This record gives sequence, C-alpha cells and structure tokens, in this order.
Amino acid sequence: MSAPKKGDLSSTEKELFQVITAGDVQEASRLLGCKDVRVNCLDEYGMTPLMHAAYKGKADMCKLLLQHGADVNCNEHEHGYTALMFAGLSGKTDITWMMLDAGAETDVVNSVGRTAAQMAAFVGQHDCVTVINNFFSRARLDYYTKPQGLEKEPKLPPKLAGPLHKVIMSTSLNPVKLVLLVKENPLLAEVEALDKCRRVMELICEKCVKQQDMNEVLAMKMHFISCVLGKCASFLKEREDKLDGLIKCLLKGRESDGFPVFQEKFVRECIRKFPYCNATLLQQLVRSIAPVEIGNDPTAISVLTQAITGQVGFMDSEFCTTCGEKGAEKRCSICKMVIYCDQTCQKMHWFTHKKVCKKLQEQREKQEAESAKLREKHSNEENKAVQGATDSLQTLSVEPNSEAPPSDPPAPAETPSPAPITTADN
Ligand SMILES: [Zn+2]
Ligand SMILES: [Zn+2]
Repeated sequence: MSAPKKGDLSSTEKELFQVITAGDVQEASRLLGCKDVRVNCLDEYGMTPLMHAAYKGKADMCKLLLQHGADVNCNEHEHGYTALMFAGLSGKTDITWMMLDAGAETDVVNSVGRTAAQMAAFVGQHDCVTVINNFFSRARLDYYTKPQGLEKEPKLPPKLAGPLHKVIMSTSLNPVKLVLLVKENPLLAEVEALDKCRRVMELICEKCVKQQDMNEVLAMKMHFISCVLGKCASFLKEREDKLDGLIKCLLKGRESDGFPVFQEKFVRECIRKFPYCNATLLQQLVRSIAPVEIGNDPTAISVLTQAITGQVGFMDSEFCTTCGEKGAEKRCSICKMVIYCDQTCQKMHWFTHKKVCKKLQEQREKQEAESAKLREKHSNEENKAVQGATDSLQTLSVEPNSEAPPSDPPAPAETPSPAPITTADN
C-alpha cells in the first residue's frame, strides 16, 4: 500500500479508528492483520491510530499498536502533536512511559513550540511531567561512549553504558537497591569504572541544569546516583568485601527502634551536596527534610523519591524495607511489621532486624490487645445499652453477645535465622 497521506483511509482503516475509540483490542488486533490496514495511517487531522489510543488513555491498545510497528515519533499531526504529547495530555503515566520506552523523542515541539512535558504541565498532568522528565534514554547515555571533539577516548567505555543505564532506570532510588545493582555487575563494581560513571553522571546533571528547558528532577537524580557510585568507589578502595560492608552500613538500624541512621544521614548529605544551590527542587527538598528529626517520618529517601519519581504514598506499607522496591508483600512472620520483596531481601536485613523484631512483635501485640480491649468494652457497653432498652420495654432479655474478640494467631516458635515470611494478610 502507498505511504500514508492525511485523510486517505481505506474503509478498514476507518473501522480501525472506530474500534480504537471503542477500546476493542481483540477487534483491533484482527483489523491490523488485514492487508488494507497501515498501522501508521493518518486521519484527516494527521493523527495515527497510536495517537488516538494514547489520547484516549487506552494502554492495551497502545501496546498492540506498538507491537505492530506503530511509529512513536510520527509528526504529521496538523499542530505537530506527537503520540507522547497525547499520552501526556491523557494523564496516563503508564502510556507516557510506554511511549518513552518505545523511543519517543522528548524534545520535539508542537506548532506553538511546546514539548510534551510542557504540554502535560500546562494541563496539570504533573505525574506525566515527572515520568517524562525522569526518563533517560539509552541513546542519550550512548553519546558519552563516543569520543567527542579532541578526545582520544570516550568519557564512558561502551561496555559500561548498559550496566549504568540499568542503574539510572532503576525503579527504586533506595541506595541499597542502587548498590545492589552496582554489585551485581563486575564491570561496574570497580573503582576506575565507577569514577568514570560518576563523571558522566555529573556532566549530565550539569547539562540538565544549564539547558534552556531546565530539568531539575533529572539533574537531582543524576547527582544522587553519582553520590551513591562515589560511596561504592570509596568502600571498594578500603574494603575487600565487594560492597557487602556498604550494604550493611546502609541497612544497620539503631538499637532503640531499628531506624537506619547511616542511610538517613547519607541521603541527606547527598541532597545537601547538590552543586546548584539556586535550584527550586533543592530548596524544596531541604525545606521538607531539615525540620524532621532523624528517625521520624518522612525519611529523606521518601521525600527524594516522591520529588523525583512522583510516587506518592511512599510511607504506605508496600515498599520493601531492604531495597525500597514497590509492591513488596512478604511480611516478617514474627513481628509482621516489616515487608520484603522476597527472602533475599529479608535475609539481607535480618542481621539488624533480628535485634528489634521481638520488640516490634511485643509492641504490635500490645497495641492489638489494647484495641481488642477497647472493642470488647465498646461491644459490652452496646450490649448493656441493648439490654437496658429491652428491659425497659419489659420484653424477654436479649441473648448476650457471646462472641469473643478474635483471638490472635498463635505466636511463632523461636527461630534462629530469618523467620519465614508470609504473604501479606488481607
Ligand atoms: Zn526488596
Ligand atoms: Zn520481624
């Protein structure tokens, strides 16, 4: 078939646009298999099926279209809108992410000179703005793997680009997670390699601050990663334990309540060392963190994470105590007060958690007993009231509520190593 022209649609293509609006993925999949359907066909306004699906916030449809080779950077729209711009306007962070992951350019502007991030901000879709600003393509990193100008060697050895990009795109900024990512790759876990990566991170940070459309979110993220890489390098210089010591320092909780003081102080120091002191984001972070006493909520990492990734509800109990990964749901079976991704994360934390686990268990049981007492008192009073009311009506007495408060599950047996984790109850 011929190259797509605006408004030049076969009848099946017209049908495809309707099916996208209706959200029928199965039917769309069938139509995309037809000979007279071009995945990048254009309607009368120059919109592709992907732009329609993104604008209408239909993630499954976007996925299907991308699988069929939809061009994420098609720029035929009458006002120069791209699929990423439509995704940003829709307010769907998953679709925005999908477009970026498929290679959407972030600095393309529409006919009035706005980028996708600026358009999303203009309509108040700040989560999408964060996703766009937080994204860093492999191509942008690969720039540093080629010698520039008079350089004989590139700033970043090409073999390091992959592992470094993995660190940059980590879904959790928790320093433990970042150190684990460094540790798992022998190419990266090496002083010289780390120093090179740090230098590149700082250069990207500087670029983000100095570019015309300043991206403080990405600048802060790059700076933070650079600090963590620096810490890794200094531990590797001094110790032979391949970063295990650093992970322990970051996880070690204080005697009284298990709060990881070293980690908190480290994260605060990283933020304070951000080299551009006029940055609004820096001032915002300092204002949120400085008044908080160490050990209280919010932690510095939760404030930083929220500012950078836009994740809200960071203090909710769905983040792994060890690595900060979202969606953790395995609970310590003794205290039931901490959660982990899996047994690996639990084992890593056990050396310090075991000192407070019993204490946390007692605290929880005390709290539970108290609230059970309260409930009992409450229901007894209710019964009495019912009794009183029925007595005064001179009817036969009401059967007293004999239902005992729910008993606690039996306490687990003494365990020498991490207690088995249970899946989150309720
Ligand atoms: Zn974890
Ligand atoms: Zn425990």
